[in-house]
Amino acid sequence: MATTFDAAFTMTIDGRPVAGTSSFGVTNPADETVLAQAPDCSPEQLDAAVAAARAAFPAWAGTDHGERRKLLHGMADAIEARVEPLHQILAREAGKTLNDARTEVLGLSYWLRGMTTLSLPETVNEDSADRRSVTRHVPLGVVGAIVPWNYPLGQTGFKLAPALLAGNTVVLKPSPFTPLATLRLGEVLRDVLPPGVLNVVSGGDALGPRMTAHPDIDKISFTGSTGTGRKVMAGAAGSLKRVTLELGGNDPAIVLPDIDVPTVAEKLFWGAFGHNGQVCLAAKRVYIHQDVYEPLKRALADYARTVRTGDGVTEDVQLGPVQNRPQYERVLDLIRDSADQGHRFLTGGLPAEGKGYFIRPTLVDNPPEDSRIVQEEQFGPVLPLLTFDDVDDVIARANAGEYGLGASVWSGDTDTALAIARRLEAGTVWINEIQHLTPRVTFGGLKNSGIGSENGIEGLLAFTAPQTITVTPATAGV
Ligand code: NAD
Repeated sequence: MATTFDAAFTMTIDGRPVAGTSSFGVTNPADETVLAQAPDCSPEQLDAAVAAARAAFPAWAGTDHGERRKLLHGMADAIEARVEPLHQILAREAGKTLNDARTEVLGLSYWLRGMTTLSLPETVNEDSADRRSVTRHVPLGVVGAIVPWNYPLGQTGFKLAPALLAGNTVVLKPSPFTPLATLRLGEVLRDVLPPGVLNVVSGGDALGPRMTAHPDIDKISFTGSTGTGRKVMAGAAGSLKRVTLELGGNDPAIVLPDIDVPTVAEKLFWGAFGHNGQVCLAAKRVYIHQDVYEPLKRALADYARTVRTGDGVTEDVQLGPVQNRPQYERVLDLIRDSADQGHRFLTGGLPAEGKGYFIRPTLVDNPPEDSRIVQEEQFGPVLPLLTFDDVDDVIARANAGEYGLGASVWSGDTDTALAIARRLEAGTVWINEIQHLTPRVTFGGLKNSGIGSENGIEGLLAFTAPQTITVTPATAGV
């Protein structure tokens, strides 16, 4: 089994290694060198992957639920046995610290195990002398899973675990910015799953649209930006595929005056700047009550100055580089715009020239509500701090805009926080914490943050269709 960057990365199609007919380089964002070549999946190879998944589907769907559970645990065992190589690859390609990369690999195995604690429900609609009617949930067929670059393995877990548990087969596509750990994952799982049940392909910009339009894929489970989500939905329309879309966000955090400043400062810092803010559910604009604005802003800035940014594989580094060149340019553009508008930076700002996509955590001091840094999803290490003094006003500002992914409320009084939480237009609202997800808890976006949801029973059902069977006269066993 290959473990290092010296060994070629191969796609997994029908349980076998497949090299691309061509390849593309994957960049290390910490020094802009090419880490490795990834296969560029040709249209014929995608057809082969989909055909393998289609051929494997009847037997996999017919496998006893308990057996599929066992195989998901087998996948988790295989991943845990390969944490070392997987996290070394992930840290370098994704710009993560070794610790964060290790947590993500272990998160994937945790997700596979955690999902097996859920079962597909059956509803008895009628059980009379005349008839018995039961609705159960059947798998959809071949799932195309399309994953972004911020959590290549984490997001894979959200899709793979429920799709396979529900009885579907999968064609998995990582982002071209971060394909390597996912390709290695495919290699690790080749001996665990029957051939064709999980196929892993990698490629450039043409591959995702080919998957969404592919006539023999039944569902696309997509995580990425709202703009791309629209294209996925349009691409899927021709073949009437089901879609789940987990899209962008501009999550507000609302901080009431009755908080413990140092505790909330540290939690909020990581809730906004963890993985450099490249987290769909990061706090992306922080509304602080004016009575606590000055002390909290100082505490956040003081904390930010202690955080070490650098190559994530170096000991003691807490934040790596921004993951890729286009995202780096986008975040720089937002910082430049703030500077041009005369906003005050409490920390960070434009970086000095040099190799690697490094930006120090940048805090912007109370910019106008209509500025780009407040209105747009930055998805990077720059955060606007804003003030408010009226609850109705802050709720209106939090709910403005196209997104509705997550939100958080921070207060010593949970009843007051709860009353605010209930009025927020967001798929998930946390009180006094942020980004806590588990395989058993459903999450998804309102408004333009998505369609459908992942995780929890709703996330599992999203990989199924209801089927009602009615027997007359009533027969037990339906
Ligand atoms: P992106 O939309 O550029 O790419 C996501 C994936 O889609 C990649 O694998 C990409 O290759 C593929 N893709 C690109 N064009 C496609 C097309 N036309 N058809 C099909 N697939 C296509 O997103 P990104 O830059 O990789 O990720 C950042 C975005 O993802 C942010 O907006 C972030 O908020 C969002 N995100 C959302 C969630 C969530 O759960 N809601 C989680 C993580 C990230």
